[in-house]
Amino acid sequence: MTHSSPSSHKASLIDGKAYAASLYTRIREDIISFHEQYGITPGLAVVLVGNDPASEIYVRNKALQTHHVGMRSFMHMLPETTSESELLTLIKQLNADPAVHGILVQLPLPSGIEAHRVINTILPQKDVDGLGEVNIGRLASNRPGIIPCTPLGCVLLLRDQLGDMKGQHAVVIGCSHLVGKPLALLLLAEGCTVSIAHIHTRDIKVLTQQADILITATGCHGLVRGDWIKPGATVIDVGITRLQTEEGKSRIVGDVFFDEAVHVAGRITPVPGGIGPMTIACLLENTLTAARIQVGKSLPCV
Ligand code: NAD
Repeated sequence: MTHSSPSSHKASLIDGKAYAASLYTRIREDIISFHEQYGITPGLAVVLVGNDPASEIYVRNKALQTHHVGMRSFMHMLPETTSESELLTLIKQLNADPAVHGILVQLPLPSGIEAHRVINTILPQKDVDGLGEVNIGRLASNRPGIIPCTPLGCVLLLRDQLGDMKGQHAVVIGCSHLVGKPLALLLLAEGCTVSIAHIHTRDIKVLTQQADILITATGCHGLVRGDWIKPGATVIDVGITRLQTEEGKSRIVGDVFFDEAVHVAGRITPVPGGIGPMTIACLLENTLTAARIQVGKSLPCV
């Protein structure tokens, strides 16, 4: 009798890098036609407070890709000692600057600065992270708005892989304001049945084993083991943990125990090369959307 052992199965890899590259190509073309139509080059302002090394890498990558697609990039690197009122003054200046169509404040902010107040000082039409109350409220009410970048990246990849997701059971691990919660809202809008798990959820494995779509965004390396996954499920790993290798180099890993999961899942995102590249591409897509809103075009649909 011949049968394939469970370990001979290999999930297909969801290539976020390739999908992001196709998004960049399309955004670049859209920016050229936007300029031809309105004589405007969309601009993105990125604000970093303090000198967190990981955040510095993120904002430099964002600036690089912004130039790459033909947008204007405005970097504001502020010292760790910046006060909340100084930061709010800068945000108000950027709100009033017609060359700036999108404003992103890199999180986390140093202690003593209330992120909520800072994010909600950004005009909703320039809130390219989609994290302000107006844009989150629009998402929760199924109204068009600017959608948070990482959740948008997840849903674009899922649509590309699965097409119609109506009726699928999606389990999201992590319920942060930045990823888990907006992602759950987006999946509801796709017609999924959505379960949300978090640090206080009991027996997460029982829940995840029922997931047709499993998305994890916790920052807990290796949390999702192979036996947490329903055979054939689609697994999206948003988590990022930096590990130090013995040679003193740093390596990025996700929440999923990849070597086990790859033998159970039907499709899976690698880390790196999965959701990470999608996040920056979606930020630039949102900046173009913001520029369109500012010339009076209607908002895109969820
Ligand atoms: P967060 O710390 O704000 O939230 C983490 C969430 O995970 C919380 O809801 C918490 O309840 C849950 N959680 C933590 N430990 C858990 C456990 N053991 N079991 C179940 N749930 C648990 O983090 P965040 O900002 O939402 O980011 C989550 C992860 O995603 C991080 O690793 C972050 O670096 C990564 N991230 C990646 C991208 C990207 O572009 N790939 C973008 C944003 C965030």
